[in-house]
Amino acid sequence: MVKMPKDIHDIIIIGGGIAAHTAALYTSRASLNPLVISGHEPDQLSLTSEVENFPGFPKGILGPELVKNAKEQAQRFGAKYTEGYVDSFKKLKGYFEVWVEKTKYKARTVIIATGASARRLKIPGEDKYFGRGVSTCAVCDAALFKNKGVVVIGGGDSAMEETLALYKFAKKVTIIHRKDSFKASKIMQDRVLKLKDRVNVIFDTIVTEVLGEQFVTGVKVKNVNTNKESIINCNGVFLAIGHIPNTKMFENVVKLDKLGYIITDKRSRTNIEGVYAAGDCQDPIFRQAITSAGTACQAAIEAERYIEHLKATRNYK
Ligand code: NDP
Repeated sequence: MVKMPKDIHDIIIIGGGIAAHTAALYTSRASLNPLVISGHEPDQLSLTSEVENFPGFPKGILGPELVKNAKEQAQRFGAKYTEGYVDSFKKLKGYFEVWVEKTKYKARTVIIATGASARRLKIPGEDKYFGRGVSTCAVCDAALFKNKGVVVIGGGDSAMEETLALYKFAKKVTIIHRKDSFKASKIMQDRVLKLKDRVNVIFDTIVTEVLGEQFVTGVKVKNVNTNKESIINCNGVFLAIGHIPNTKMFENVVKLDKLGYIITDKRSRTNIEGVYAAGDCQDPIFRQAITSAGTACQAAIEAERYIEHLKATRNYK
C-alpha cells in the first residue's frame, strides 16, 4: 500500500497553450479536478494573428481568442489555473512533486504541455514587428502574404518548409542564410531550389534589422564575407532558425531526444508511468495547434485511465 500525502492532486497539467487547455478540458470533464500551472509568457498561438486551419471556424479565428476560449471551456468544467514557472520536477514513491517558484504541488499524474519557443534573432525591429509582418509560422500566416514579397531566414528543413508554404501565396520568397550552403536535407533543398521563378537564395548573409512603418517594409542585411550592408524590401519576415522545447526542468526525470523534445509513444506516454506529454514540447515535426490539441486529448484520456487503474489496484486515499 502506498501512503499518499493529503494535499495531492489527481492531475497537474503544466503549460498555458492550446495543449494544456485541451488536457484541462478533458480531465475536468472526467471529474479529475485538474490544476493547470501556466508560465508567465504567452503561448505561441497567442502570438499569432489569424488562425485559418483550426477546424470549426469557417471564417478563421484569432490565435489569442482561440486559446482564451479553450481556457474558458476548461474552466467551465472546473479546471483550476495558477501562474508560475516550474523550477523542478521530482518523481517520488507513487507520486510527483512539482516545484513552482518555491511552492510545492503534489500529483498522482502529470501532463507536460510546456510547448516550444521559436528561436529568435534578437535584432532591432524583430519584437516591434512581431505579428505585423514578422512571423515564426508560415503554415499559419502564409495566406496573409498573397502577392507580397517575403524573406525566410534560416537554412534547415524548417526554412525549406516555410518557403514551400509561402511559395503558394507570395509574389517572391527570398531565403537568407548565414552560411554558403543549406543544412536542410537534400530532398527538401531540391524541392525549393527548383522553384527558381519566384524563390531567390542569398547565402553568407545575416539579417541585422527589421525595418518598417506600421508593418514590415524590409530587412537590413550584411554579407558576412565583405561586411557590405544592403536593404531588401519585403512585407513578411519568417524566422526559421529552429525551436527550443521548454523541457529543461524535466530532463532529470523524463527521457528527451537529442534536440530536447520529450520522447512519447503513440499514446502520449513518456518513459515514466503517470507522466504524459502533449503539444510542441514533444513534437519537432508538426507543431500545429490541431496536433497539440490532439496529443493533449490522448494524454488526458491516458491519464484518466491510469487514475482509474490506481483506484482499482491500490489503496487510493
Ligand atoms: P535546424 O536547427 O535544423 O536549422 C536551423 C537553421 O537556422 C540552420 O540553418 C542554422 O544555421 C540557422 N540558424 C540558427 N540560428 C541562427 C541565427 N541566430 N541566425 C541565423 N541563422 C540561424 O532547425 P529546423 O527547425 O530547420 O529543424 C529542426 C528539426 O526538425 C531538424 O531535425 C529537421 O530535420 C526537422 N524538420 C523536418 C522537416 C521535414 O522533414 N519535413 C520539416 C521541419 C523540420 P546553420 O546552418 O549555420 O547552423
